[in-house]
Amino acid sequence: MLLLLAFLLGGCGNPADPVRLQGRAIGTTYSIVAYGLPDGLSQDDLHKGVDQVVADVNSVMSLFKSDSELSRFNAYRGEDWFPVSKELAAVVQEAKDVNRITGGAFDITIAPLVNLWGFGPDKRPEVVPTEAEIKAAMADVGSDLVEVRFDPPALKKLKPGITLDLAAIAKGHCVDAVSSWLKIRGVSGFMVEIGGEIRTSGQKPDNTPWRIAVEKPVSMERSVQALISLSGQSMATSGDYRNYFEIDGKRYSHIIDPSTGRPITHTLVSVSVVDETCSRADAFATGLTVLGPERGIALAKECNLSAFFIVKTPDGLTETATGDFPQHEKMN
Ligand code: ADP
Ligand code: MG
Repeated sequence: MLLLLAFLLGGCGNPADPVRLQGRAIGTTYSIVAYGLPDGLSQDDLHKGVDQVVADVNSVMSLFKSDSELSRFNAYRGEDWFPVSKELAAVVQEAKDVNRITGGAFDITIAPLVNLWGFGPDKRPEVVPTEAEIKAAMADVGSDLVEVRFDPPALKKLKPGITLDLAAIAKGHCVDAVSSWLKIRGVSGFMVEIGGEIRTSGQKPDNTPWRIAVEKPVSMERSVQALISLSGQSMATSGDYRNYFEIDGKRYSHIIDPSTGRPITHTLVSVSVVDETCSRADAFATGLTVLGPERGIALAKECNLSAFFIVKTPDGLTETATGDFPQHEKMN
């Protein structure tokens, strides 16, 4: 997980004062800044409404709740259609699309490997698995082994051992769900952030863009690498410098390369992706991180993805922006 700080520059004084909300969401925290609450919608209503949306997403996608829709699908060993919500079917379809575009780097069937390496719900001691254990887990990984149907919505395993981990897309999806709810309730301008993934909508009262800070990708301190201006888009960031364990001085990231069954080890330390929806941004940020600096930057250019890569070099950090990645200010 990565923390980004939201900056609100300008916009002081009435009627420009924002409403700020904070709470807990899907194993992390959320923060919301909103302007222009419609008449009849109190801050308390807003808080309760957002908490309900977050709880609903959790009851569909959490792996830490044994009765969530996802946990029930994972526990099911049948190979026939398993009815699910439209919401779960849509997220799994989007994940399959990103899997195809990233050549398999983003893969929600990664769950057995995530658990094997100790980053999943079955927490285990931090030990390096054996080659045989990795091979066995890899046999149950592959996004083509799960099928999606929409009418009526259902998922199907082509192998009984297939299990899904939506950790790399669920936060983005939850940001989208909260944003949709705020729009439906008539909130005119807002920024929603969950565990570092962000979506903005509408304008601030002074018509300036939302300004978001990308954190400097180092584990020892928290400071700002670059300030990004967003108007109506989403941004998600993936990085290997916060969530990892170390054995004998070697760092094991929580992001796993499905082609090797092992945590990524390259010099790409952070990838931020700007997209229309936060779920796509979230999935691509993880997928590009798996691909690494050369293949990740090449794919982002080829597919015109708006991404910002921070790569570790012997002299420090190098930044590369692709596609229409928004204007950003570098901080030192
Ligand atoms: P963060 O939690 O830092 O925002 P991500 O969005 O990149 O990070 O999600 C990382 C999580 O996704 C891991 O903890 C794991 O549960 C899962 N995961 C690991 N490797 C992959 C992968 N190759 N494809 C999809 N999900 C992955
Ligand atoms: Mg992600």
